Amino acid sequence: PTRSSSNGSTEEEETLAMVKPDGVLGNYTERIKNAVVESGFSIIRETVIQLDEHRASTFYVEHSSKSFFSSLVKYMTSGPVLVMILKKENAVADWRAIIGPTDARKAKITHPHSIRAMCGLNAEKNCVHGSDSLESARREISFFFGEISTDAKNLCKSTVTYRVN
Ligand code: UDP
Repeated sequence: PTRSSSNGSTEEEETLAMVKPDGVLGNYTERIKNAVVESGFSIIRETVIQLDEHRASTFYVEHSSKSFFSSLVKYMTSGPVLVMILKKENAVADWRAIIGPTDARKAKITHPHSIRAMCGLNAEKNCVHGSDSLESARREISFFFGEISTDAKNLCKSTVTYRVN
């Protein structure tokens, strides 16, 4: 369902998308960005970075007690990642639908047209990331882009304090 804001316009959402090291090194970046644009998303910000162990561990802190955690951190630090803020109506759920299920092996069977089916390998090396909720999206956007996100800027507007000398 389409949500509307008080002035009747459609409310847009931001989500965080990432092409993981296997996607970047496997030359899938262009194909993934084409899918992004063809699906109606605007790319608000993008940056290519190399995660270090600390940053990768912090990003996936919710999985720190899982048996796959150390392997996941090793994978996420194995090469550069492309991080993007994507914007459109229903961005969080729509991007999750486009990337497909976590396990790329299963995606190839159940969601053959998904991005993870196209370029992922298994439950770990699944090529792309997408925020799983609006709350995660906000956390992940500020994790990578700080206060540069338009959402964050709008939130800060009303609380700006001016120093008088
Ligand atoms: N992952 C893994 N083994 C698993 C499950 C997940 O290595 O059994 C990795 C995989 O790269 C996944 C990430 O951990 O994308 C985060 O897992 P989550 O369950 O949050 O999946 P996602 O939200 O990425 O679909």
